[in-house]
Amino acid sequence: MDIEFTLGDITQQSVDALVNAANSQLQPGAGVAGAIHAAGGPSIYDECQGVLRESYPQGLPPGQAVATNAGLLPARWVIHTVGPIYKGRPEDAEVLRACHVSCLAVADELGAETVAFPAISTGVYGYPVDAAAEVAVDALRTADTRVSTATLVLFDERTLDAYRDAHRGWTPG
Ligand code: ADP
Repeated sequence: MDIEFTLGDITQQSVDALVNAANSQLQPGAGVAGAIHAAGGPSIYDECQGVLRESYPQGLPPGQAVATNAGLLPARWVIHTVGPIYKGRPEDAEVLRACHVSCLAVADELGAETVAFPAISTGVYGYPVDAAAEVAVDALRTADTRVSTATLVLFDERTLDAYRDAHRGWTPG
């Protein structure tokens, strides 16, 4: 899988699937989720609530992912995943890794070949950017998937640099 990095707004990416840094109740909220629901329109929210009612009445657990339509966005699907709320515990990295793995598994089920990821957990959920970048890049580099291109869409230069640096410095194992 190719891994690319770009500065920008994830709602403007023309890809098969874009990833939402969601919360367990799949509410719009702030940040990426707010932008996706605002730009994508109500069909995404409606499907989110249906998925929760049917499959996750307690909310989508951190590290897992589900797909919905992408409404008015220039993508076919939105894959919603819930990142860890950073507390400095070892499980934070495991959950953040699981988010990336789960999103790629859902993308494979959908047949999505191009997937855009935001910097999951680095906003409201407080994950330090450099540490999150290392986990995200390692999860993507080691993934077993049919996705051909994962594009990390970073919202500011500092975050873009952190993800690029993590990619340059990545070593197996
Ligand atoms: P989380 O709750 O998982 O921390 P946030 O949405 O608060 O998620 O933030 C995750 C990252 O996404 C942050 O680095 C934030 O700056 C960035 N971000 C916010 N809005 C957008 C957007 N429209 N496109 C891409 N990245 C965004």
